[in-house]
Amino acid sequence: MPDYGSPLLFGTFITPTNRPADSAVGLAQLSEKFGFDLVTFQDHPYQPSFLDTWTLMSWVAARTDRIHISPNVLSTPLRQPAVTARAAASLDLLSGGRFDLGLGAGAFWDAIEAMGGRRLTPGQAVDALSQAIDVIRGVWDLNDRGPLEAGGEYHSVSGAKRGPAPAHNIPLWIGAYKPRMLRLTGRKGDGWLPSLSYMQPGDLAAGNAVIDEAAQGAGRDPREIRRLLNIGGRFAATNGGPLSGPPRQWVEELLPYALEDGVGTFILASDDPAVMQRFAEEVAPALREAVAAERSARGVPSKIVRPASITNQRRPGIDYDAIPISIAAAAVEPGDLDYHRVRSTYMRGGAPGLVLRVGSTADVVDALAYARAQSVPLAVRSGGHGISGRSTNDGGIVIDLAALIAVEVLDVATRRVRLEPGARWVDVAATLGQYGWALSSGDYGGVGVGGLATAGGIGWLARGHGLTIDHLRAVEIVLADGSVVRASADENPDLFWAVRGAGANFGIVTSFEFEVDEVGELGWAQLAFDASDTAGFLESWGATIEAAPRDLTSFMIMGAPRADGQTVAQVLSVVDSADPDTIIGRLQPLAGIAPLLQQSVQLASYADIMANNSDADHNGQGDPLARSGLLEHITPEFAADAARLLATGDVYFFQIRSVGGAVSDVPRDATAYAHRSANFSVVAFGSHQQRVDDAWDALGQHFSGLYLSFETDRRDERLGEAFPVDTLRRLRELKLRYDPQNTFRDNFNITQEAVLG
Ligand SMILES: Cc1cc2nc3c(=O)[nH]c(=O)nc-3n(C[C@H](O)[C@H](O)[C@H](O)COP(=O)(O)OP(=O)(O)OC[C@H]3O[C@@H](n4cnc5c(N)ncnc54)[C@H](O)[C@@H]3O)c2cc1C
Repeated sequence: MPDYGSPLLFGTFITPTNRPADSAVGLAQLSEKFGFDLVTFQDHPYQPSFLDTWTLMSWVAARTDRIHISPNVLSTPLRQPAVTARAAASLDLLSGGRFDLGLGAGAFWDAIEAMGGRRLTPGQAVDALSQAIDVIRGVWDLNDRGPLEAGGEYHSVSGAKRGPAPAHNIPLWIGAYKPRMLRLTGRKGDGWLPSLSYMQPGDLAAGNAVIDEAAQGAGRDPREIRRLLNIGGRFAATNGGPLSGPPRQWVEELLPYALEDGVGTFILASDDPAVMQRFAEEVAPALREAVAAERSARGVPSKIVRPASITNQRRPGIDYDAIPISIAAAAVEPGDLDYHRVRSTYMRGGAPGLVLRVGSTADVVDALAYARAQSVPLAVRSGGHGISGRSTNDGGIVIDLAALIAVEVLDVATRRVRLEPGARWVDVAATLGQYGWALSSGDYGGVGVGGLATAGGIGWLARGHGLTIDHLRAVEIVLADGSVVRASADENPDLFWAVRGAGANFGIVTSFEFEVDEVGELGWAQLAFDASDTAGFLESWGATIEAAPRDLTSFMIMGAPRADGQTVAQVLSVVDSADPDTIIGRLQPLAGIAPLLQQSVQLASYADIMANNSDADHNGQGDPLARSGLLEHITPEFAADAARLLATGDVYFFQIRSVGGAVSDVPRDATAYAHRSANFSVVAFGSHQQRVDDAWDALGQHFSGLYLSFETDRRDERLGEAFPVDTLRRLRELKLRYDPQNTFRDNFNITQEAVLG
């Protein structure tokens, strides 16, 4: 008889009694405390002495932290499947992936009918459950974006919207005894969940045989289907019959169920805390040990076998079975229900073969070692807002640092803070704001620390406070060879220099230490101008900004002229002062440069200004097309050429940011970001590659360099524009030292062949 090798799990089966109302919740909390993996509840919606199972499970989820929760089993005839799918996904999301779903075809038909349910024959009930399963799986499947058509005579949906997808692949465990239900379990279930008390000797073996045959007939590996078993008994000093005796007797009697009948999950039916505790302390660990010893003697590996529906979607070049155990549970592959959440980034659609979600530096080391052994592209992702970066790919591996989100104050006196790469600037600003501090970052709260703080960081405080990297004091970085090193002015200073502007080429930064500034309330102005005299407007705006004190930082945005010929420019400005007179004094010269269409000026905190992001999952499509240039001055010639570019209509978003000021105070050789003399950063987004490239290349004569974070063009010349010759030469030397195999190559790769000037 088979041992399917399922890692052993233990659960409780608690009566959902409503007297006293929270006793079932208390028993669930005890289950967690005693170390059970799972707590389950029967579902009899027609039984007034019970609490409603869904409501109870939601309450239990809110009052527990770790334990999984499942109905045992859900009365599907009284639970509309599309709604059940949504409820299950919601509870799974709210509980952090702790919901599992036991399903039954129905029993007690008189009571079901009395509650308004439809009476079905046993055969019809199996068909109905089969249709319900299709509906549930369909609602969860957001990897398929089309409207859902599923089900049949008993349960059907037509054109239903899908989602939400659960936080994890919720397993469907089926309560089955008779052959038709067993065959359904083999075809469509993720687990078989019978009660021992309803079974005769030999029934488990016979049931397994039916399930296995049906599974194989459906092209599945029988080991995909977990075998669960509800058991009950009593502890006594001496043997009083099956599961009635001392813990040692329980272990001896349960062992064959695991080894001969393949049971992987034992669920103890008991409402007695003393029995639960004794089972958890004296039976479960001993049984686990005995099963492990026997498996090792028999050479049966203890492992989770993933469903064929998932493994069928695997991509070539990735050894999925070799994913290190430390990061396997959080890994996402194309067939997983939450794949749609991690496949794409904010601006780019992707189809990676594997996303390794890491939760610590040690995980990053494991993920990197694993990824290096695979023959596919490697992407590194923090906040997923890369424009230049390639933090997703097609068929490759993504190391996803989104879970590393700490924002920590290390020392109040020196304003020293530690940020992890997955933290978003909106969260950083909110935390620092509580201390009256801010860190010059970008203009959008959703951007991640990891990508921006390794490239530069041109934002609302640039002229007064410099780039983000100018505040960086140290990093912890995982190098290509897996070593974890610290880099600062004193430790690995070369590496520290390179990380500040070309970090993506050198490793995976897992921690950043910054010295931040005291920043109080700010003046926040949003002005709209008639910029139909586009060249004149650009010139005046540029001259006004250059003449302004550095407490003014201003961004200008334009699109193509409107159908009526008018061009509108949005000018967004921050004045680093809470004094209304200073704010007005800075804005007055700006307000006069062209006819003002709209204005709004207010006092705001930096955290308020950065709270402009969406929390939705990234859903980028296609590839962004952005071109970047750094400009010393907005000359009449540049303004005229830029106006011509806008008139073509090929650019739908054209932005100029003021830089200069404190950014220019930093010597050009102090960081790998070297174009310190530029007063402006220019970016254009378009949709037609050739036309935008042609137009942009024509503007090239005006630029003194470019900012890689706003560039998508992969042609070799771009590296030479991003880094002056001496900078690029030093970067090439360091690349050879720190990443000789060129592991980090997906984001503007510094190769030995990179063109020098
Ligand atoms: C809406 C929007 C607004 C923006 N505004 C600004 C702005 O105001 N100022 C500005 O300077 N930039 C801005 N950017 C550009 C942004 O800074 C970069 O795209 C940055 O790389 C995004 O960081 P991320 O962590 O979110 O990106 P991700 O997509 O996660 O990463 C981008 C790239 O950075 C590298 N990377 C990421 N994490 C790490 C790490 N931990 N260690 C080493 N390398 C890493 C990788 O090469 C990766 O491909 C903006 C982008 C968007 C989409």
